[in-house]
Amino acid sequence: MIALVTQLCEAENTMWLSLLNGVISEDVKLLATMTIAEKTHCDLAIIANPRVEDLKQLPSLVWVQSLWAGVESLVVSMQALGLPLVRLIDPKLSQAMAEAALAWTLYLHRDMPRYAKQQSQRLWHQIDSIEAQDRHVSILGLGALGQEAAKVIAQQGFKVSGWSYSQKSLESVECFSGDTGLKEMLAQTHILICLLPLTKETHQLLDHQVFRQLPYGAQLINFARAGIVKSSDLFEALDSGLLSHAVLDVFEQEPLPETSDYWDNENITVLPHISAQTNPHSASDIVARNILNYRNNGVIPDGVNINKGY
Ligand code: NAP
Repeated sequence: MIALVTQLCEAENTMWLSLLNGVISEDVKLLATMTIAEKTHCDLAIIANPRVEDLKQLPSLVWVQSLWAGVESLVVSMQALGLPLVRLIDPKLSQAMAEAALAWTLYLHRDMPRYAKQQSQRLWHQIDSIEAQDRHVSILGLGALGQEAAKVIAQQGFKVSGWSYSQKSLESVECFSGDTGLKEMLAQTHILICLLPLTKETHQLLDHQVFRQLPYGAQLINFARAGIVKSSDLFEALDSGLLSHAVLDVFEQEPLPETSDYWDNENITVLPHISAQTNPHSASDIVARNILNYRNNGVIPDGVNINKGY
């Protein structure tokens, strides 16, 4: 018996239950429908933003599998519960994110925000184009999502760099790490894409100090978490021209309130958290594989490093 513990709506819970029960050979049940005896003996939970109090109803849990790739909101509660947390690592999600990273890189590279502005002013003006090989795209975070994005963007002929905690070595991608590496990378970056997790170390990492190290008029894409960008510094950088445009898919408050200043800023493209959505079919298959491997071999999949926060 496996518990499904979420704060999703009824329709979403029904969809996940149906998919998971279709690929997992034991019963997956919604926490609310489990008996006390089932809760007492349940050793595995599949979770989506669960309430900690709900997980506490399952005293025999050995590990939990999240249905999402991002675990920022879970790390603190999992630390309190002392449970191994396994997040979703799905090649389909990485492909979706890489496609989004490429799409919005091309959007900025081919000056689409400026042409949209010109059209609204009935202005016929040709902007000098820059070849992809002369456009430098840098990716913050070279994990499951960042590596695939770097590969796909490099395949289009852009110069690509990436920055991570540990030093990486990737084909066609100049890899950096550490503070000095970040400084070196920023100095040559035209388009900066954030695919870092939100942790104590990355909280408000993208602030004035970072923006001023980029070439004047550089552009930002944030597909990770809003808390990584210091919003007051971002607005200032866009107003002063230090940054010429930002594409944002993630916000402190989602849905973005109608009154938010982000909507009206002509140098910001607002996206409603759509850069990479979980594919329920491939996610269910991956969760089923992880559970089967645990049941057959006792192997808990590589989990989140709770101390590092990702
Ligand atoms: P991941 O596999 O854990 O990769 C994280 C990368 O960031 C790693 O390369 C890591 O370095 C690097 N990193 C972490 N802390 C760092 C630091 N302080 N300094 C330098 N590098 C650091 O995560 P992922 O699966 O690629 O996902 C990244 C984030 O994307 C998620 O946490 C989530 O916030 C976001 N996300 C957004 C969407 C969306 O739709 N907008 C969807 C899914 C995920 P090492 O390789 O050395 O560990």
